[in-house]
Amino acid sequence: MEFSTEQKQILEQLFAEGFSSGQKLSAASSPTASETTQQPTLFGTAMGDLCKEERWKLEQHGLDIWEKMARHASANEFPKDADIFRFKFHGLFYVAPAENAFMLRLRIPGCRLNSVQARAIAEISEKWGSGTIDITTRGNFQIRKIQPKNILFVLTRLADAGLTSKGSGADNIRNITASPTSGFDTNELVDVMPYAQALHHYILNNRDLYGLPRKFNVSFDNGGAVSVAVDTNDIGFVPVKIQGDATLEDGVYFRVLLAGITGHQHFAHDAGILVKADDAVTLAVAMIKVFIANGDRTNRKKARLVYLIDKWGIPKFIEETQKLLAFALIEAPSGKYPANINKLPHGHVGIFKQRQERKNYVGVGVPVGRLSVAQLTGLAELAEKFGESELRLTVWQNVIIPHIADANLTRFTKALWSLGLTYQSSAIAGGVVACTGNTGCKFAGANTKDTALSAIEHLKNRVNLDRPVNIHFTGCAHSCAQHYAGDIGLMGVPLAAGEGFNITLGGGMDQDQGIGREVFWKVPRESTPQQLEKIIKGYQARRLSGESFVDFTRRHDIKTLQEIFA
Ligand code: SF4
Repeated sequence: MEFSTEQKQILEQLFAEGFSSGQKLSAASSPTASETTQQPTLFGTAMGDLCKEERWKLEQHGLDIWEKMARHASANEFPKDADIFRFKFHGLFYVAPAENAFMLRLRIPGCRLNSVQARAIAEISEKWGSGTIDITTRGNFQIRKIQPKNILFVLTRLADAGLTSKGSGADNIRNITASPTSGFDTNELVDVMPYAQALHHYILNNRDLYGLPRKFNVSFDNGGAVSVAVDTNDIGFVPVKIQGDATLEDGVYFRVLLAGITGHQHFAHDAGILVKADDAVTLAVAMIKVFIANGDRTNRKKARLVYLIDKWGIPKFIEETQKLLAFALIEAPSGKYPANINKLPHGHVGIFKQRQERKNYVGVGVPVGRLSVAQLTGLAELAEKFGESELRLTVWQNVIIPHIADANLTRFTKALWSLGLTYQSSAIAGGVVACTGNTGCKFAGANTKDTALSAIEHLKNRVNLDRPVNIHFTGCAHSCAQHYAGDIGLMGVPLAAGEGFNITLGGGMDQDQGIGREVFWKVPRESTPQQLEKIIKGYQARRLSGESFVDFTRRHDIKTLQEIFA
């Protein structure tokens, strides 16, 4: 697409404004005066080379479309073309043809919300959505089936409840995740909730942190029992406690992981640096700015952080980041000051002691992350009655209600039953995650959530496992449910007749980090539960004493696995 002279002038002006916003970017990435007057560039990329999404962002910033959204609401009209993309800046995804409706993705910073907010989300879904609420694999909420006429009611109701959906889609920094047990985990090294909250608010108040080359994920791990899948993020912070070291002050530091993107079969790598815990947010912002200034703006397939790091190498990325910081990063090769990355499998479901005396947190199993309005409202009520009005979401699509006194546990768990929920998930059901699938996402090759539910039901009375196994159902190669990193991963594929799944085995995160290997292809959806039964029973029959699923599958080649599980 060629710009007219008038459009070029507008773009040049936009750039001039963008660059005068006080951000200290590296000199090499800033346009020179002659570039801005003669041939406008965006972070060094010639206008003609920009991909279409970059041009859309320049033509109208996604945060500047309130009036446009109001027009769509009054006409009850869905957006078209570039505006479909811009609406995502507000968390509104027009998901046709899967559904002729918007899906709203929120932000739940640190995966923590209060009961008033939970009630507001339930109310939004009841009044203007599908009547269900989905917990995502970023410890976040999504609401489906929203019509254009209702979008402003939805967004203003969210704001009234102290919530937002700004930047939850398009090329923005997604929900900041934190270990869901932060602040009450008996094993944690540091409460990371304040850092996740601080970064969330920093982003919300800095417009230049919107419109990145591509989406971006950041996560804080507290070093405790529950995995937050930190190694699947663009930036992951993992704590280490340092005491009595000759060169470093005592205290908690973070190791920094970079460029995770498991859909592309790539975990975040240790960057070989330490940062004081209180400097982590500043470091994250500096790294994001380096990415903004230097990420690829021409090819969407090469625009994630991992490609910049592939091009530069981690040392140059750290060097560029250091230029933006007023404090020195600490060199720390991965063998020095190692972080403890051991997590408790399914530590998010069940009753667990908190570090506060006589208090407990209860991890509630939510099959495939889908709650009804009554269930979410009911959980809010239980949190008010028995806890401290607080709820946490997990990246395993479950809910944790913390701060339940010992004396209230029995009454709490009974009330949970009445909502059709339990803290007693099986070794399988507790670790099943599923993305939206083809009932709500146009990319999906299969129905993930319903297949996952059928599989849970099928396996319930047929297998009796003594060790947790995670099963990840993802609808397509985007891998929102991170199938490559599950003990068992399923990816939806369309078949000549119907739907099916490719099955990957032996993936894992944290202490089990590894990309699974594809072992079965195009298994028809109808026989997927039976195939899973064969896999689990084959493992049980042939494993060594105490051997985990991941260890079992990794010590066999693909052909042998096919034979065992046939
Ligand atoms: Fe949609 Fe694919 Fe993501 Fe599933 S993995 S939600 S099908 S994009």
